[in-house]
This record gives sequence, C-alpha cells and structure tokens, in this order.
Amino acid sequence: DVTVGVLALQGAFSEHVQLLRRAAEALKRRTAQDVRWDFIEVRTPKELEQCDALILPGGESTTMSLVAARSGLLEPLRDFVKVLRKPTWGTCAGLILLAESANRTKKGGQELIGGLDVRVNRNHFGRQTESFQANLSLPFLRATAETGADQPYRCVFIRAPVVEKILPRHSGIQAEEAERDATVVAPSKTPVDDLAKRELGAEVEVMAKISTRTPALQENQEHDHAGAEDIIAVRQGNVFGTSFHPELTEDPRIHVWWLDEVLKAIERRQQFELVDRTV
Ligand code: GLN
Repeated sequence: DVTVGVLALQGAFSEHVQLLRRAAEALKRRTAQDVRWDFIEVRTPKELEQCDALILPGGESTTMSLVAARSGLLEPLRDFVKVLRKPTWGTCAGLILLAESANRTKKGGQELIGGLDVRVNRNHFGRQTESFQANLSLPFLRATAETGADQPYRCVFIRAPVVEKILPRHSGIQAEEAERDATVVAPSKTPVDDLAKRELGAEVEVMAKISTRTPALQENQEHDHAGAEDIIAVRQGNVFGTSFHPELTEDPRIHVWWLDEVLKAIERRQQFELVDRTV
C-alpha cells in the first residue's frame, strides 16, 4: 500500500485527488506493478503521518501557510520534506511553499516549508497576464514510456511564480544537520550512495522552462523580459515543483510520471533501510 496525501487546507486539492486516481489507473495499465494506492486529503499532523508522499496544491500560499501554522502542520511538513525526505510535489502556491526563499507581495510574506534551494518570484508574470495557458514541451515526460510523452503539455499559469534563482545547496538546512547528513552518507559504496546523491546531497535540477517569446507572454508590457527563459519546473532529490497547475487540466501525464517517481523513491528507501539494518 502506498498512501499519497494532498494537502487540503485551501486551493485545488480535490482536482489533484481526481487526477491522481486517473494516473494510478494509467500507471497500472502501463506497468505490470500492482500497487494499492490510497489517496487522502491531509488536514492534520496525524493524516500527514500516514503519507508516503505528498502534493501541495495551487491556491494562495500566504493563506495556506497561515492555515498550516494554525493546524500545527508547519513543523510536521518541514520534517516530512527535509528530515524524512519523502517525495513531495508542489504546484504553483505549493512550489512557493517548498522554496527556501520567496519575495514578499502586497499581501505580505509567509512562512515557508522549504526543501528546494531556490528563490521564487511570486506573481511573476504581472497583472496583464495574470492567467494564461501555453503548450510546452516537458523534457522529463519524454523519459517515460507514457504514450504521447512527446506531445506538448497544456500548462495553466495563474498568478504563477517562477524560480528566479538557484541558491547554494543546503541554504535552508542548519549547518549542523547538513554535517550530520554527511556523516550518515559517507561510509559505504552501497545503494546508500545512490540514495544519498539523490535525496541528501541532491542538486537542483531544472526540469522545464518557458520562453519569454511564448505568444501568451508577448504582449505583456509589464513583464520584465530580461531573461530569454524562465524556470517553471525544478526538482531537488525528493522535492519537485511546478509553476503551473497540472491539476487544472484533464491531462494525467505529469501525475503518472510523478507516481512512478514516488515508487522509485520508495524502492530506494527500502534498499537503504535494508542496508542500514545489516551494517
Ligand atoms: N500567486 C499565488 C501565491 O502567491 C499562487 C497562485 C496559484 O497557486 N495559482 O500564492
């Protein structure tokens, strides 16, 4: 049994749950694996404890973080992402919460969960293109055997953030903790090394970008065209984030890809634990 939670404090959580169900079906058809998936809405630390992986939906990140604080979920969420290092995916507002740093907006700043060593710029595309859709090619989907993996994906952006800066690794982790991680991973040449590389010392990988020449962005005067491309999807070890909202489409391909990644992460963890017990 694999339990995947969707943080259900605010925003588009039920859309994620629906798409997860379809993605699990698609994954079952494609692979021989017979995994029993449980998809649950998460509102309390107890519910979070049951999860092997988690999605933070789009919505309003300031509100989400205030409600999380009030529900006593902020610290458990930080533990989930940064100490237990379970697979976590944030979409739009969820990406903001998973960043180690975000700019303040008129509505103010918010407490972040962190996990991705990046700085995000909230509401990056400005007022004139508050919302837009763009057909983009997502290179990471091509690595899957999914049919239509090379077809463009219709990305929905709503007051979306982008990753404006990749920060030095572990900028969010206390020096002490980073050191402890280093001692945990150093000694062996076993699968631990793989896990270590991916989950403990992982670098930020840029997974997708949008060109500022994208038609939907062309007429946007307000938007700063300084860079030719903006980063709209990143991954660092167990943490994945997208600027756009796959949950607001009917296209399950990213959910399929991510569930597959979740299974791989669980497999690595089991190997890790096995090795850990035998040393
Ligand atoms: N702009 C929102 C925020 O700062 C995110 C928008 C979204 O998730 N669609 O939280």
